[in-house]
Parts: sequence; C-alpha cells; structure tokens
Amino acid sequence: MTEFIDVALPVPLDEVFTYSMPDTIICDIGFRVEVLFRSRKMTGFIVKIHDSEPAVNFIIKPILRVIDTQPLCSPYLLKLGQWIARRYFCSLGEALSMMSPGGKQERTPGGLFAENEPAVQDDLALSDEQMAAVHGILHGKNSLYYVQGITGSGKTEVFLQCAKAVLEQGSSVLYLVPEIALTHQLIQDIGTRFGPIVGVIHSRLTPSQKLEQWRRIQSGEYRFVIGARSAVFAPIEKYGLIILDEEHENSYKSGMSPRYHARQIAMKIAGDHGAKLVMGSATPSVEAYHLMSNNNMMAFKLTRRLSGGHLPAIQVVDLKGKTSCVSPELIAAIHTTKEEGHQTILFLNRRGFSYFFHCKSCGFELVCKRCSVPLTFHKNKNRLVCHYCGYSTAPLDVCPECGSLDVGYSGFGTQKIEEDIRATFPQYSIERLDTDSVQKKGALEHIISRFKRGEVDILLGTQMVAKGLNFPNVKLVGIVQADTSLKLPDFRSAERTFSLITQVAGRAGRYFGDGKVIVQTFMPENDAIRLAANYETDEFYCREIEMRRLLSFPPFFRIIRIVFRGKQIEKVREAGNLYARALGSDTPPGVEILGPSECPIAVIAGNHRFHILVRSENFSLMHRFIQHYRTQMPQSRGVYIEFDPDPQALI
Ligand code: ADP
Ligand code: ZN
Ligand code: ZN
Repeated sequence: MTEFIDVALPVPLDEVFTYSMPDTIICDIGFRVEVLFRSRKMTGFIVKIHDSEPAVNFIIKPILRVIDTQPLCSPYLLKLGQWIARRYFCSLGEALSMMSPGGKQERTPGGLFAENEPAVQDDLALSDEQMAAVHGILHGKNSLYYVQGITGSGKTEVFLQCAKAVLEQGSSVLYLVPEIALTHQLIQDIGTRFGPIVGVIHSRLTPSQKLEQWRRIQSGEYRFVIGARSAVFAPIEKYGLIILDEEHENSYKSGMSPRYHARQIAMKIAGDHGAKLVMGSATPSVEAYHLMSNNNMMAFKLTRRLSGGHLPAIQVVDLKGKTSCVSPELIAAIHTTKEEGHQTILFLNRRGFSYFFHCKSCGFELVCKRCSVPLTFHKNKNRLVCHYCGYSTAPLDVCPECGSLDVGYSGFGTQKIEEDIRATFPQYSIERLDTDSVQKKGALEHIISRFKRGEVDILLGTQMVAKGLNFPNVKLVGIVQADTSLKLPDFRSAERTFSLITQVAGRAGRYFGDGKVIVQTFMPENDAIRLAANYETDEFYCREIEMRRLLSFPPFFRIIRIVFRGKQIEKVREAGNLYARALGSDTPPGVEILGPSECPIAVIAGNHRFHILVRSENFSLMHRFIQHYRTQMPQSRGVYIEFDPDPQALI
C-alpha cells in the first residue's frame, strides 16, 4: 500500500506538496523528509499523512528519504509555524525551516556544562524592590510583566529567582538575551547555579550541535534554555516562564524574511501555554512603556544600583563651533581617568549618516512637514527628499532658522574619529571592539580579557560596547557624537538616542561612586539628549508617546512596510507603482498607503530599493487587506518583494 504525505517546503508558495511513500516506512507528522521539487533536492516537513490519492493531473513523486527518527516539530510548533507564516507573510515551509535546526541526526556526547557540577552559587539576599518584583511575578495572575530597572539595579537576580521557583514547580524556563557572545558571564553563572538542566542555543553551534541541543530540550533534559532571538522557537513542552532581557534591543527583530520579532513570538507562546512573560530593561521600548502606562502589563521598578556604585553624572558637551570631534572636556577627562588608574570607554556611533542638511551655527535640521523626519540630501539629484512620503525640495543655502550661511551636509565618519583619537593619545593603549574587529574567533574574548586585566586604557567601540558589558574599573564613558542616531530619517530615532545614551552611560562607575559620562552633541537642547542626561526617563517617554500620537506612529498606529528590490531601477519602481495602485484602488477606510518612495538606503549590494508604507490603527484589518492582495498580485521578474510588519526601522 502507498500512503500520501503533504510536505511543507521552504519555497515562497502558500501551499503544501503531496508526495507518495511506501507504508512500510515509519514516519509521522513533524518528521523531515527529503524530496525532489522542480528537480531540486529539498528538505521539508510532513504536515499531513493520508491515503486518498489527490485528484491532480500529474504524477505524484515518491519521497527520497525520511531524515528523522522522531518528530523534529511538535504539533504545537507546526501550529506556531502556521501562525508565523500568516502573521509575517511567508509560507509554512519557510517558517518551519527558519524555526528549526538544519542539522542531520547524529549524537554527540555531552552538554555544555559538566554533568555533575554542583550548583554552588547561592541566591543573593534580595533588596526590597527586587523582592517585590519576584513576589509580584510569581504570585501575579497576569501573563505579561516588566522589570524596569536602572542599569546595575539587579534585574538579572530577579529573573533568576523567578526562574528557580518556576523550575521547582516542574515547569521549564526560556531566557532570551540580545546577543549570546556578550552574555558569557551570565551563561557561566546560570550554568553553575542550575547545573545540567541548562541548555544554550547560539549561532556558533554547528547545525548538528544545534540539533543535539534541540533533542535534549525535547526530551525534557534541558529545562532552562538560554539563547538569542531564534531560541524563542526552542521545543520546550512545559512552558512556565519566558524571560526577555534587554527588551528594547533591535536584535530581537529578524533582519531577514520572515521578519519576526522575538517579543511578539514570546507573547504568543506565553499566551498559548498560560506561561508568564517577564521582560526587562532600563530603557523599555516605547511600545512596552505604553502597555505599562495603560496597565496592560504589570510593571516593577528597580531604582537603586546594588553593586555599590551610583549612577554616573552625565555632562553634555556642545560640539557646535568645535574643530575636533574630541572636545577639550573629553580629552581632559580621559587624562584624569588614566591618572587615577581607571579606564575609559568611548562609544562611536557606527550609524553615522552624513547626508543631512545641517546648520553649523545653530544645529537646525530640515524635516519633512508631513512626516517630521529629517530630509535626506541626494547629491546626484540635488534634492532634499523625504523617505516616508516622497516629498522633495531644493537644497537650501541659508539656514531658515537663524539665517546663517554656514550650512552643509557633513558628519564625521567613525574611521576619522578613530584616527583622531589615536593621534591625540599616542601614549595610551587603545583597542577597538566592534563586529568588524571581532570577526576572528576568540578575538572578542581576547580584547575583553585584556581590558579586564587593565592592559587597555581606552576601549573604542560601536553598538557592542553599549550592550551589557560590565567592567568594574571603567570610570569614564564618552559618547563621541550622540546625534548620529537622531539624524536617521526614522520615527524611532529619538527613542534610540535616549536608550543608547542611558545604556552606554550605564557602563560607567558600576562599582564606585563617581563615574562620569560625557555626551558630545550638536544638539544639546534636543529632548532625547537633555532628558537622558538628566535621567528624566518618565518625562522622556511621556513626550515621545505624545509625539507618536500626534504623528500617527506606533504604538498608536501600526505599520506594515513592503520593500521592493532588484538590479534594474525602472522595474523596481514600476513594481512598486503597480502594487501601490492596486492597494490604493481598494483601500479599506482607516488604512493609509504611503509611497512608493525610494528607501533612504536607496541601493544595497547593487539592488535598488523602494518601499510602500501601509499604516493603520487597526492592525488586523490592515493585515487581512495586505494578505488578500499578496496572493493576487502578479510577480515581476527580477523584483523581490519583502514584507515587514511592525518594522524596526524604515531605512
Ligand atoms: P542589571 O541587569 O539591572 O543592569 P545586574 O543584574 O547586572 O543589573 O546587577 C548589577 C550588580 O548587582 C551585579 O554585580 C549583581 O551581582 C549585583 N546584585 C544584584 N542583586 C543584588 C543583591 N540583592 N544584593 C547585592 N548585590 C546584588
Ligand atoms: Zn541655523
Ligand atoms: Zn514626508
């Protein structure tokens, strides 16, 4: 007898494909099989087994082989895959292959930690604020919780004591972190405290090592799973608690299609399992803050540093009229820090975007009247362009604010800043820490341990140094130019700038009283910078939320971004126009179509990019509308279309 199986394949087609299989082969739903699809070998997931030959007018091919000896995806993960496919506009097969490890079956002995290592580290005696949070979370009836604590206030200890209680009740825990490479210390701590039930999923594992971790989680051997974004798909059965550390981090959002957000997936999983989701950060995303203020999420505040240090004083230095990108104030502070035997971290903003109209006398920047985002200067067209709505205008020679003629489009590149700093401090030992400099295996650990041992005076870095690295001897933190993230033509730029300053500042003086932060900026009076420097967190969020409300941006309105890209600009533009016309002809009330316009980053790797922004207060209405058109639209050859619901950035 022959059986038929429906297979979900990682192709962008919203259907499953039927293959035949002799019924002597043992397999089930959730197993992977290898099949021929359009004469290519592919791996897919069995989603259905049946014995009625489908009424199709072509020959049903037999499968090539069965890969697994037990299901890789549980019925729940298949259901989650369906939800993801719909929610993020991809096929079930694409969702499932993105969610699961690619490795082939093979057994490698041993986990990441010695099996019988005793749990030595004791719990710390909690502060009153920590205690209130742990109790509130464990005894609360809600599903969503947030621990909003200043940097160094002991959020981790709250998470770990909640985890301990949940594990003791027999349930499992997932601990999500923004980037596993920077979480070495935490993983070590969790390993010693919780022992052999801890599993770590990270990107440096080979596919078969990932599969090994996956199987150990499935079997229930690992009940405490730590990992970055994709660990949210770990095949945990008895979910009790999900922890999402540094909730505001961009890295929780996938940069590739399907562009899921780990926070949204975690909410879905927690809801489906009746588990609790606990998020934490010193600088919540505006969305999360909004949920807290509306009492849709239970919030706990941690207001004191427990490691001994106080929050450092933040000094804002105005760069206007300065000739160097390292101010005399910063230079003096670096020298003092060295003389006292302490260390400095200098943060360089990598997202330096230099093509913005900028008045060198008063700091004025030209923004779009409709969108309130900075206009981008296009040299080749000699126009200032809005990348939200397509509005454009001729470049200005005079500042409309102060009448100065000293206007331009310049910014500093990080390269130049590094050269300047090395030239200014030739006698100091300087290291750079960013994704480029740590490409080589072990380079990150090497730099970090040299810095920890005091062999480095100044650590220069980009986003990496802002992320939770803790060095006891750091007294001074300098932010070389805080404005660069503000200049991004994006509605989240104020939020990012605020969070960046707060997080980077959090690296200074964690263990002693007089840490210092210097923030250099062309816009010292800018709200995000001023309020971050004064630690006026609530004030910042209130204003930002009000601004979002006025401009119809998230969290009030939601956005689905559709990006078109391809080698031939005319084809890409045409595809965008076609799509916008089709959507525009039948837009339901309350849904708004903006564009198409060229993306702020107009070309990436030879691909021209245009986007359409769809905006509405009613997400499900907007989503259904796009889902409907997505399957009906004709495909243009050579133009790729990507959907990004709730985009992190619009560049
Ligand atoms: P956060 O994650 O909020 O930035 P951490 O979890 O890194 O803060 O904690 C900062 C420091 O405070 C750590 O060195 C931690 O060991 C210490 N700490 C946390 N809770 C306590 C406590 N209850 N008593 C003493 N020290 C604590
Ligand atoms: Zn001016
Ligand atoms: Zn505009």
